[in-house]
Amino acid sequence: MNQAMTTELPRPSPKSSDPAELAEEVLYCLTYRIGKNASVATRHDWLTAAIQVVRDRVIERWIESTKAAYDTKAKRVYYLSMEFLIGRLMRDAFSNIGMLEDMRKALATLGVDIETIAALEPDAALGNGGLGRLAACFMESMATVNVPAHGYGIRYVHGLFRQEFSDGWQVELPETWLDHGNPWEFERRERSIEIGFGGTVQSVTDAKGRLERHVWKPNHSVIAVAYDTPVVGWRGARVNTLRLWSALPVDPIMLAAFNAGDHIGALRESNMAEALTRVLYPADSHIEGQELRLRQEYFFSAASLQDIIHRHLGQYGELLSLPDKAAIHMNDTHPAIAVAELMRLLMDVHGHDFDTAWDISKRTFAYTNHTLLPEALESWPVTVFERLLPRHMQIVYAINAQVLHEARAKEGFTDAHIRSISLIGEDGERRVRMGNLAFAASHSINGVSALHTDLMKQTVFHDLHMLYPDRINNKTNGITPRRWMMQANPGLTSLVREAIGDGFLDDIEKISELDKFADDAAFREKFAAVKRANKERMATLAHERTGAWIDPSAMFDIQIKRIHEYKRQLLNILEAVALYDQIRSNPDKDWVPRVKLFGGKAAPSYHNAKLIIKLANDVSRAINGDPSVRGLLKVVFMPNYNVSMAEVMVPSADLSEQISTAGLEASGTGNMKFALNGAITIGTLDGANVEIKECVGDDNIVIFGLTAEEVAERRAGGYEPRAIIEGSPELSQALSAISSGVFSPDDPNRYRDLIDGLYNHDWFMVAADFDAFCKAQREVDQLWRNSPQWLSKAIRNTARMAFFSSDRTIRQYAREIWNVPV
Ligand SMILES: *Cc1c(COP(=O)(O)O)cnc(C)c1O
Repeated sequence: MNQAMTTELPRPSPKSSDPAELAEEVLYCLTYRIGKNASVATRHDWLTAAIQVVRDRVIERWIESTKAAYDTKAKRVYYLSMEFLIGRLMRDAFSNIGMLEDMRKALATLGVDIETIAALEPDAALGNGGLGRLAACFMESMATVNVPAHGYGIRYVHGLFRQEFSDGWQVELPETWLDHGNPWEFERRERSIEIGFGGTVQSVTDAKGRLERHVWKPNHSVIAVAYDTPVVGWRGARVNTLRLWSALPVDPIMLAAFNAGDHIGALRESNMAEALTRVLYPADSHIEGQELRLRQEYFFSAASLQDIIHRHLGQYGELLSLPDKAAIHMNDTHPAIAVAELMRLLMDVHGHDFDTAWDISKRTFAYTNHTLLPEALESWPVTVFERLLPRHMQIVYAINAQVLHEARAKEGFTDAHIRSISLIGEDGERRVRMGNLAFAASHSINGVSALHTDLMKQTVFHDLHMLYPDRINNKTNGITPRRWMMQANPGLTSLVREAIGDGFLDDIEKISELDKFADDAAFREKFAAVKRANKERMATLAHERTGAWIDPSAMFDIQIKRIHEYKRQLLNILEAVALYDQIRSNPDKDWVPRVKLFGGKAAPSYHNAKLIIKLANDVSRAINGDPSVRGLLKVVFMPNYNVSMAEVMVPSADLSEQISTAGLEASGTGNMKFALNGAITIGTLDGANVEIKECVGDDNIVIFGLTAEEVAERRAGGYEPRAIIEGSPELSQALSAISSGVFSPDDPNRYRDLIDGLYNHDWFMVAADFDAFCKAQREVDQLWRNSPQWLSKAIRNTARMAFFSSDRTIRQYAREIWNVPV
């Protein structure tokens, strides 16, 4: 927190933080807001009461922050994201407002253990993985570095499904985070906005018959109701708003239909509204293309845009100044329909001409691309788009005409270029390309790591980049050190404070002062003790959730992330199978004891990903049940990986698995969490791994495998996995064991197709990287055997990760994209 900021915003409220007075407030709240006395209060009641007491302090800062932004006419940032993967809020808010320890003491005087009640808070799992977690880290960092910001998204009734294993197979169960109410949110009925769908477009002409404007007459609509959650920055620097929309039926329409006897029609409207915000689509890096998804996208984008315009008009009375006072950021293409909605509002509602509206839009919007995977690039059939959003379809055509006009004027642009930059894909069924729409309307398009940004210029946006060469820029992702170090790893945080003082809490760059302690034997021992304690906590959790006992003195080798073929959990499992085989063949070698831990959910419709989970569980059962490798190798798959589980697993890791096929992981953020917490990375030169290597140094990371360039070359020039497999005895052996049913005696053919896929095409180049991966793992073993050396490397990882703080990322967005002072 810088000096200027502390003087701009008044200090936190004078309300007492004395534990005795806090305890009284908790009791008061329990009595008068919850209606219970202490003797009958449940643990949930205590949780709610504690949150409400802290919430009162948060609200004061919230009101101050909102007023300050208004009074100073500050430019505001609007972050539009279909997903916010927040996790629990209590520890984050208590800690950032500076009340965690006082509240711990206050509750203790009442006989309540804060950790026990903290564990009752459900995870807000309104996201799938990295993209949603990034949005959550960004919200916290924007509040911390004092950027006036609103996050906008959807208040899903059911977040990401709960995962259980039944005989090793993934089973999806509904997630119900709102069961006990949500003490963090405030319903804002007064911010209700009607959102239309379908219908027709009418042209209004003037007296001379000239087109004056278009009027969209939707044939049905729903009400968007706002729910606000405060987002507290570090030390309460500022409190921003996360505004999530929920859909309700439009009562008058329903009533009219009901009274007219159309009971079924009325119920259909009501069900439609309810369905809109009921569930989060559970696929990561894959677009299913269902119409309900497009409805969700339009619903939250339109509600957010109308809210933004309402706020701007309320303060400034006109819209020409919108780009000076508002930066609207699209987290991937899911909110790209917001472009057409802003154009519609500017032209059809507020009377601006196309050129003015287009200029305002381009100066207001920015867009972040998150993936190059073809199956994740969003496009909608023109037929569906037109039926659902007829006016927006016209606007997309008008924007396209403008873009194609600019392209034709550009020297060297051929028909092939024109086809590739068009907002409408013409191969096969005509489709609206949301990436091209977002690109065309944005003054800034950013990738999320240096490598990903380069590849973006070479691949998906090659031709748009030729047309608009100053738009693409890089903003390497980051993570918030508050949640991912201070809260998740209090042991390490205390140790670092002891060593270098408190400066790094406010300025993470200062953590680099830890570097010199890498050579300090006494410090290394303390660092090892912290890791050991974190591993014991993890071992307890593993036993609770899976029944497996794991030994905290073994190396914890962890791969946690969504299950996806490009992330190559299969490569890791194959290595485990090969290692298992080697240990059995050479039982007397001095093997390094390892526990391989997995966690992650597969999209319910992703067949191979679910099969990979089953394989990991089958392999786990075989290995863990074999006395000949006992104490040397264990495999444990933790069910229901989520943010709260990551907060326990990450600090316990010795080795971080970041082994995607090079060129396919845009950035990764899991990789950053691990390295910050003193794990050594084994990884490919992919995404942010490339920059992690530059920061921690070549000696403190283990890199293996094909580069992105080599992957592209091999894909282009006849890759033959069969020959590679046949040339690797270890791989052949592992594959034939799996394929022939060694791990699935109940169904020997279970993995036949999965393994045949590796022989026949192996899209993700598992075979090509297998030997290099095994060799790198044996190098890791060698490093582990020299414990002081391992610890030095681990400490250097923690000391050198400051660059990957989302505070740095957000400052770059603020300065280079949003034009907001920080
Ligand atoms: C950080 C995080 C992710 C992203 O992990 P990657 O390894 O970058 O894919 C996904 N899920 C959760 C719960 C996370 O905390």
